[in-house]
Amino acid sequence: MGGTAVETLREALRGEVIGPQDAEYDEARAIYNAMIDRRPAVIARCADSTDVRAAVRFARDSGMDLTVRGGGHSGGGLCLADGALMVDLSALRWVRVAPQDRSARVGGGSRLGDLDHEAHGFGLATPAGIMSTTGVGGLTLGGGHGHLTRAYGLTVDNLLGADVVLADGSFVSASAEEHPDLFWALRGGGGNYGVVTSFTYALHPVDAVGLAVTLWEPEHIGAVLRWYREFLPAAPEELNGFFAVLVVPPGPPFPEEIHGKKMCGVVWCFTGTPDEERLAEVFAPVAEPAPPAFHFATPMPYPAVQSMFDELMPKGLQWYWRGDFFDRITDDAIDVHRTFLENIPTELSTMHLYPVDGAAHRPGPVDSAWAYRDAVWSGVVAGISPEPAEADLVRKWAVDYWAALHPHSMGGGYVNFLGADEGQERVRATYRGHYDRLAEVKKTYDPDNVFHHNQNIAPS
Ligand code: FAD
Repeated sequence: MGGTAVETLREALRGEVIGPQDAEYDEARAIYNAMIDRRPAVIARCADSTDVRAAVRFARDSGMDLTVRGGGHSGGGLCLADGALMVDLSALRWVRVAPQDRSARVGGGSRLGDLDHEAHGFGLATPAGIMSTTGVGGLTLGGGHGHLTRAYGLTVDNLLGADVVLADGSFVSASAEEHPDLFWALRGGGGNYGVVTSFTYALHPVDAVGLAVTLWEPEHIGAVLRWYREFLPAAPEELNGFFAVLVVPPGPPFPEEIHGKKMCGVVWCFTGTPDEERLAEVFAPVAEPAPPAFHFATPMPYPAVQSMFDELMPKGLQWYWRGDFFDRITDDAIDVHRTFLENIPTELSTMHLYPVDGAAHRPGPVDSAWAYRDAVWSGVVAGISPEPAEADLVRKWAVDYWAALHPHSMGGGYVNFLGADEGQERVRATYRGHYDRLAEVKKTYDPDNVFHHNQNIAPS
């Protein structure tokens, strides 16, 4: 991209315009997953919706490829492409809570931690993920599940509206009343439909929650998973717990003697009253499958729960992940988990099964673009290492683990857990019976497929 073009864009925008010649370019193009290293032609750090509209029009008029960056957390680096114009929303980090109607309006480049912090000030929260550094943008548009899913549903189940800059640079608000087709597609259809400059969410009274972590030795994984698959779906919706295979991190709250040991476990979040007596009662059943090697339960402010993994997994690690939905955990799948727990390649590599039942089962199967209302778990295998030299090692473990589990899955995975290299069949499997309707909406709002750096739905 020539210097004049950069200057033209610079003049049009209130926010920063960063090109390869600028000192901050490398910092500005670095995303969460250090495995992805690409060089955009220019980064438009938009200050507001007017900037976003100007940047989208500029890309179209000059025939440039366009990417959109929310929090920069997508596994496959969907927000970053060589030679493209990146619409960078990282300056759109703001949250306005309306306590009187329990809602929050949130800038499209905000992180989960921005929303959690401000909402918590009013004793409120909305369900999102499990790490405060994740962008609300990509997470919401894919569906969004986390610690509050069983209690209050998916993030998209709590989305009340969105402001969107469309492919022609025009601006619309989408909600149940305005552009309902677009609003339907935004609730699970990924970043296919435009640049969301703000999201409006419903909030719920969530203050301190009960955080608990239970770990068991690897030899108990069969008993634990057979117990977990019955216990959690039958438990009250105020109890959430994602299952993990992991290596115990070397720090508190874990005692030194288990640091670095391979284990299986559950990270729990209880939204009922988290006093000591109640927590002891809620978590008494964890001893049923086998004596835990570690169990810890404590009341904790919700934003603290949301940020407790941030330090363990900072920006700049090598990541490769794949996922699938599960409606059951079969005995054969348990054998797969046992095998891949035994050969975890690095300390940070992990597999999680996130519950997507409870309140997330209440909306009907076609109420939003989220196509797996009958799933009970959204599974992800993540190979992770700080060492670039271990990139192939962690990738291979994740792919092999995923391939061994896939026959025991529902056939498709959460769009936010798809790798960028999995192909169109996998995208179709994600959207299942909703694919054609999503492609129709795409034809209406982005007929030229301007927004294609995502898990792409081609216009029908
Ligand atoms: P980006 O890479 O910026 O964007 C991802 C995609 O969304 C791109 O296609 C981008 O163009 C599009 N996009 C982003 N923002 C906007 C916007 N405002 N308007 C239009 N398009 C936009 N997911 C969960 O559901 N629950 C979890 O608990 C969870 N935990 C995670 C933990 C970690 C450490 C990581 C790395 C990911 C996790 N995820 C989780 C997955 C996460 O939802 C996806 O990686 C998601 O894409 C992140 O969104 P982002 O905005 O940060 O990413």
